[in-house]
Order: sequence, then C-alpha cells, then structure tokens
Amino acid sequence: MRPKLVVGNWKMHGSRQQVTQLLEGLKQGNEGLSKDVAVAVAPSHLHVGLANELLTGSQIALGAQDLHPGEEGAFTGAVSAPMLADYGVSYVIVGHSERRQFFAETDAVVAEKFLAAQEHGLRPILCIGESLMQREQGLSEQIVLSQLDAIVAAAGVQAFRDAVIAYEPIWAIGTGQTATPTEAQQVHWILRDHLAELDAAVASGVQLLYGGSVKSANSGKLFREPDIDGALVGGASLKAEEFLAICKSADF
Ligand code: PEP
Repeated sequence: MRPKLVVGNWKMHGSRQQVTQLLEGLKQGNEGLSKDVAVAVAPSHLHVGLANELLTGSQIALGAQDLHPGEEGAFTGAVSAPMLADYGVSYVIVGHSERRQFFAETDAVVAEKFLAAQEHGLRPILCIGESLMQREQGLSEQIVLSQLDAIVAAAGVQAFRDAVIAYEPIWAIGTGQTATPTEAQQVHWILRDHLAELDAAVASGVQLLYGGSVKSANSGKLFREPDIDGALVGGASLKAEEFLAICKSADF
C-alpha cells in the first residue's frame, strides 16, 4: 500500500503569531500519528523561515506554495527553488488552479516550475483539475489528462517517481462542495491508468492526492478509496484540531 500524505495549503493567510500557534498545535497533536501518514504544511513564502525554525525536529515537513523556475536573477518578487531548499522546504505546490487563474500560469510555465523544483531536490505537488463549466461539458477527463501530459512531455514519465499529483476540481475548491469519494476515485483511477500505459511501476508508486473542500467529516471516506493517497487541504488546514483530525483519518 502507498503511504498517505496530507498537505495543508495555507494560501495567503497567517500572521507570525498565528503561524506559531498553528504549528505548535500541529506538532503536539501529530505525535501519535503512525509513520505511514506523512504530513506537510505550505505557509506563505514570508513565513517559510519561521515555519522552518518551528518545525525543526518534528515529523511535519515543510512545503511552499509556488516557485519561480529560474535559479536567481532580476525577477522582482519571485522566490526560487534553491532559496526554498535553503530554508528546509521539501515539497512545493505547482500549478494550483489559483495560480493558473489569477496569475495566468500556462501548462508550459507549470512544467518549467515542476522541472526546476526537481532539479533542486524539492518534491513538486502538481495540481490539476477541471472547472465547473468543463465538468458540465463532460470534459473533465480530457482536461486533467492534458494537464498531466504537459508535464510528461516536458519531464518524462520517470519524473513522477518523485512527485505528487493533486487532483483538485476547481468547482470543489473553497466551495464546500466536495467530489464524492466515488467521483474522486474515478478520476484518480483514470490518472493512474494513464500513467500505467507509460510505466506501470511509476503509476503504482505515485501519490495521488485529492483536494477540494476536504474536512474531517469527509476525509476518512475519501482516503479509503484505493487510488486516493491523501489530500491537499486549504481552508480546513488553518485550524490545528481540524487538520489533525484529517491526518488521523488517513491512519488506518
Ligand atoms: C486548495 O486550495 O488546494 C484547496 C483544496 O482548498 P479547500 O480545501 O479550501 O477547498
């Protein structure tokens, strides 16, 4: 069985005090969790340094929400993979739908970020997912496979040996409307099956997370589906007790 992974995406939330409180709460509550469930949090870039200090010696891994594909240079406001690695970051989210929508990130840019992350030892969490309109037009499968194939074309299927994929239907993000476990499982199976046509070992090893209004009330059922290996959690990751309850529901 693949190990589970639960990642909190804190988005543009948190003060120094809130970050400290949240991480202290998570560190305490995380202690009893089995080693089969990995937990990571992705604070804002500004809070990565603080989080790195607070997480020293804990089992909770540090993630980031985005990166620039270049190593360094005149890119005002941007943060590179080596900078993140220098601050103890091990996971980085790439291609989140909010980046695609509000920052006009294309599949090509997402692929560059994915490659830059891996080059510097970071594990990319590739987000893919269809909009409500695309879903209503019956295009869900086509959209997620084309987003996945953009990375396969740029990086090769072997790149998924050390990467994570998060299926995040846009209509479920922050809306309180979750895909049912059966709906999510179906898409996850399509993704794994697609990768299996290219490389069976990569497909069976890659961690496929679900994201979109995950909370402790629905996570246990999602995690029991055979191709759902964890979750990328937005809103519910901002409360220690709720996020820990989600992580615990992956421990079975
Ligand atoms: C996300 O933005 O990655 C996400 C899944 O958000 P939420 O859990 O709030 O829907």
